[in-house]
Amino acid sequence: MGGYHGRYLRIDLGTVSESWIPLPESVLRRFLGGVGLGVWLLNRECSAGVDPLAPEAALVFCFSPLVGTPLTTSAKFAVVAKSPLTFRLNDALSSSHFALAGKRTGADALVIVGACAKPSLLVIEDGAIRIESAGDIWGQTSDVATARLQERFGAEYHSAVIGPAGENCVRFATISHANRHAGRGGLGAVMGSKRLKAIVVRGSQRVPVADPAGVVASARDLSQRSFGPATAKYRELGTVANLLTFNRLHALPTRNFQQGQFDEAQQISGESLNEARRVARNSCAACTIGCEHIYALPPHPQPLSPEAGERGEGVRLEYESLFALGPLCGIADRDVVLRAARLCDRLGMDTISVGATIAFAMECAERGLLHEDSLRFGNGDMLLSLLPRIARREAGLGDLLAEGSRRAAAKIGGDAADFAPHVKGLELPGYEPRALQTMALGFAVGSRGADHNRSGAYEVDFSPRADRLHGSPDAAALAVDTEDRAALIDSLILCKFLRGVFADLYAESAEMLRRVTGWDVTDEELRTVARRIVTAKKLYNQREGWNADEDTLPKRFLSEGLPVGGSVEATLPRERLSAMIAAYYVARGWDAAGRVPAAIVAELDLHDLRTDG
Ligand code: SF4
Repeated sequence: MGGYHGRYLRIDLGTVSESWIPLPESVLRRFLGGVGLGVWLLNRECSAGVDPLAPEAALVFCFSPLVGTPLTTSAKFAVVAKSPLTFRLNDALSSSHFALAGKRTGADALVIVGACAKPSLLVIEDGAIRIESAGDIWGQTSDVATARLQERFGAEYHSAVIGPAGENCVRFATISHANRHAGRGGLGAVMGSKRLKAIVVRGSQRVPVADPAGVVASARDLSQRSFGPATAKYRELGTVANLLTFNRLHALPTRNFQQGQFDEAQQISGESLNEARRVARNSCAACTIGCEHIYALPPHPQPLSPEAGERGEGVRLEYESLFALGPLCGIADRDVVLRAARLCDRLGMDTISVGATIAFAMECAERGLLHEDSLRFGNGDMLLSLLPRIARREAGLGDLLAEGSRRAAAKIGGDAADFAPHVKGLELPGYEPRALQTMALGFAVGSRGADHNRSGAYEVDFSPRADRLHGSPDAAALAVDTEDRAALIDSLILCKFLRGVFADLYAESAEMLRRVTGWDVTDEELRTVARRIVTAKKLYNQREGWNADEDTLPKRFLSEGLPVGGSVEATLPRERLSAMIAAYYVARGWDAAGRVPAAIVAELDLHDLRTDG
C-alpha cells in the first residue's frame, strides 16, 4: 500500500507517553485520510458526552495519502475534535509545511489526549516525542510565537500554534501555521485547554507511492489544468471578488443579516482593495494556483493595542474575513477591516465567528438589550478594541462574546436568540440564506453547523438548476451531491479551489488514488466513501445527543423578509425549509427524524463506529 505509514501516533500529554497504533488498510480505504480518517479516529478515541475542553477530549491531526506527492495543493492537513462552540463534530483544514513535515514523522495521524501541567510545547521528531516548556511564548500572538519557535528549533521544524484566544479557551479560537488557520469551531480552544501552545514537527520518513511515474504524470496534468480558467478568479482577485457579486444578488450579509446589500460595498470591494492596497500574491506550499492576495496596511497613528502590530506589513484577506469584519458589522473602512483581520490572525480567532458575534452584539446594543453606548454598527474603533478584549476574555463584554453568539444570546436574554446568527452554535458565513435557499438547507443540516466549506449548496443556487429565492425539495439531492464531493476532497486532501478543473471528480480522484496507493479503487467506490464520511459525521453527532430540532435556522431567517429589489422580499417560511430538510433526509436514506437507520450503517460498512458511550 503506497501513500500511508499504516499507523497513528497517540500521545497522552498527562502521562507524557506515546503509543503507535496500527491503521488497518480496511480503515484507510474506507475513510482515506484528512477529515474522513479524523472522524473515524475521533469516534474511536473520544468517549461520548465528553466536555471538549476536558483533558480526556481528543484532538486529532490527520494527514492524507496525497501529502508529500507532487500533486498540486496536496500539502494539507485536517484537525478534528468535538467543538467547544457546538458540542458537535468539528473538522477544519489548513495547509503547508506542517502537513509535509507532520507526515514525515512516520504517522498518518496524531491523536492528542490529556493535558500538560503547565504551558508546553509538544515536539515530535521522526516519531519520538518530548514536552518542552512554552513559558517564554505563552501569551504571545501566533506570529510572534511562530517566529520564536523558528529561532529556537531551526528551519527544518514546523509548528502549529495557538494565539492568546486559544490559551484563554475562546470558543472560536484557531490553530495557526504559516498564517493559515484551522479556523472554524474552536479547535484552538481545545489545544489551549491542554495548555499546549504549539506542536512542533520534523521528520524524514517519506512514504513511497505505488506508481511513481503515474503519480508524476497525474501531477503534471493537474498542475497544467490548475493554470486554466476554472481557477482564474482565485489568481486574479481572490475570494474577495465575491463581495460585489453577492451584493448585486442581495446575498451579502449586512448589519447582522438585517440586509442583503451594503450601501458602501464599492469602497470595500475586492476591486478597490486590489487597486489601493494589494502588494503581493502568495500560495500555500506545493500549490500552483496561488490564491493568497496580500494587502498593505498603512500604519495607524494611534495603535489600539500591542497586538495590533502597526508595522505596516501585509495582510492576507479572504472574502469571509472581509464580509464578517466589514458589512456584517456595518464597517466601510477597508483599513479597519484589514487591521481587524490581522488582529484576528495574530490573536488566533475565527474571523467569521468573531465578526458575527460582534455584529450580533451591535444589534443587541441598538435594540437596548446590551447597554454599551459605543457598540454600534459602523464603529470601527469599537470593533478593533473589542478583538483583544475577547481574546483575553476581559471581564464584561470580552468574556461574554468569547462564548460565541449562541451562548451570549442565552445570557443577554429577551429575544436575542431569535437573531443570534448561528446553526448548532456555529456562526453563519457570508451567504445570506434567504437569497440562497439551497445553501440555507446546507446550513441547516450541516454536521458542524452553518458552513460553506462542507456543503457547496450555493453552487446549486448560482446555477440554472435551482430558483435561489424559492428553495425546493427538488434541490435536496443536489445539495447532497455537493456535500459528498466536499467530503471526498477534504479527505484526499486537495484544495477546493481546484474543484472546477475536474471533468469527473470521482473518476479522476480514483485514478490518482490508484497510482498513489496501488488499490484497484473505482469512481463508484469513492462515491460510497464520500457518503460514508458524511454519514459517519452524523453518527458521531447522534452519539453526542443530536436531534432534528438542531437542523434549522435562527428565527430571523424564517420570519423576516429580505428586501431583494423594489418592493420584493425574499422569504423562507419554516414549512419550506422543513420540506427541503425532509427531502434531504430521504436523499441520504435517513429516517423521517433524520437519524441514520441500521440498514445504512450496514450498507456503508460503518459497523465499527461506536454509537454509545
Ligand atoms: S489555491 Fe489558495 S488555499 Fe488552495 S492550496 Fe493554493 S494558495 Fe492554498
